[in-house]
Amino acid sequence: VFLALEGGEGSGKSTQAALLVEWLESLGHRVLLTREPGGTEVGKILRHIVLDNDTGELSPRTEVLLYAADKAEHVDMVVLPALADGAVVLTDRYVDSTLAYQGAGRNLDIAEVEHIARWATSSLRPHLTIVLDIDPAIGHARFEGADRIESEPLEFHQRVRAHFLELAAADPAHYLVVGGGGTPEEIHADIRTAVEPWLGQ
Ligand code: C5P
Repeated sequence: VFLALEGGEGSGKSTQAALLVEWLESLGHRVLLTREPGGTEVGKILRHIVLDNDTGELSPRTEVLLYAADKAEHVDMVVLPALADGAVVLTDRYVDSTLAYQGAGRNLDIAEVEHIARWATSSLRPHLTIVLDIDPAIGHARFEGADRIESEPLEFHQRVRAHFLELAAADPAHYLVVGGGGTPEEIHADIRTAVEPWLGQ
């Protein structure tokens, strides 16, 4: 089973990932929690280039290609082997983040960005994508104090959020949108309910 977690800054992705892994393991599943960017050794270097401020500003197209390289390495070397081995794979961010951040956020042609991202991932799609939805103004406040400095304006994050919601609305069978002021425990309970039917896969 292949699961993806998506969401903006301060949406509680790490908390929900940890709760979900704990629950899946308690059911006896082998779980691989991984992430993009940075789920491989090459990916960690790519993550440093795309996210750390000391490497300077990138052209948006360079950014797309570096994220695509991270994805190719991640899917080929980590995700597909783990799925073949029968593990439940949970990735913290996947293709939808690229569509939302590089596509909608940077105002690139989303169809072109999607083409590149699908090629990079051999069109592998999660069975279920969990979108942790949060108003960026609230997410930002939670994010303050984190180690990375967030430099994009609020409108950028509003475009990102809107795109996640658009992707979810277009394919409700493969998406769960949660958030909206629930406690972490309530959100986790909703996630369990949505994940459960996929566990036989
Ligand atoms: O959730 P995580 O800490 O891994 O994400 C770090 C940041 O990377 C995000 O907040 C976002 O700014 C950026 N990112 C991005 N495009 C992606 C994935 C992540 O801009 N495709």
